[in-house]
Amino acid sequence: MSIIAQNITKIYGEQKALDNVSFEIKKGEVVGLLGPNGAGKSTLMKIITCYHPQTLGNMLVCGYDVMENALEITKRIGYLPENNPLYLDLYVQEYLEFVAGVHHVKNKKQRIEEMIDLTGLTPERKKKIGSLSKGYKQRVGLAQALIHDPEVLVLDEPTSGLDPNQLVEIRNLIKTIGKTKTILMSTHIMQEVEAVCNRAIILDKGHLKADDSIDNLLATAKANNLESLFHKLTSY
Ligand code: ADP
Ligand code: MG
Repeated sequence: MSIIAQNITKIYGEQKALDNVSFEIKKGEVVGLLGPNGAGKSTLMKIITCYHPQTLGNMLVCGYDVMENALEITKRIGYLPENNPLYLDLYVQEYLEFVAGVHHVKNKKQRIEEMIDLTGLTPERKKKIGSLSKGYKQRVGLAQALIHDPEVLVLDEPTSGLDPNQLVEIRNLIKTIGKTKTILMSTHIMQEVEAVCNRAIILDKGHLKADDSIDNLLATAKANNLESLFHKLTSY
């Protein structure tokens, strides 16, 4: 199992951002984490990637507990945070060398070449990150998340703010990567999950509302009172 979340609750001050959320993600699954703004998607991803701890419950990633083995988990997980924070003054290649160094990647040069090739960054590799289009910046974000060949990828709204062409390209890239990795990606758009994922976990106001295959979710939306939530999630 790549991720096991057991009764995860996260409280910020007075705000309960996650309330007793449980699910399991098997190795090789590509799962969409779906929910409107404020649902708790980023909060959950920060717990999985060891950026901050849960208030209650247990989170296991690749068999390790986030509270006890953060170092082992960060070796095995790649994370593209919301809003893709990058060093805009660095050149693409220079930035990937820096990230590879942080992760102690062996065969650094070769690995960077592979990532530039996989993410389609070849024409932009000599440019400064700040001068790239949003679509190419996302490719750099994906390349840095993949550089240490992690088992699990956590992508927080990887296509937000992209134009329609860039959106299709990045979705296709995620689909390619998903053939060999476990992926959890968040979005607030239902169509995105239909295009890329086999399964969706739906959060709303910190509660887990559904966890099923896309086909089952669409077929049973009415019976499970998910229609109004789906309506919110299908409007751009
Ligand atoms: P999503 O990513 O689904 O939009 P978030 O996980 O960012 O949702 O936020 C869930 C809830 O927790 C929101 O109500 C948000 O305002 C709140 N929240 C998120 N981060 C913090 C924080 N650092 N301090 C206080 N409240 C927060
Ligand atoms: Mg978010």
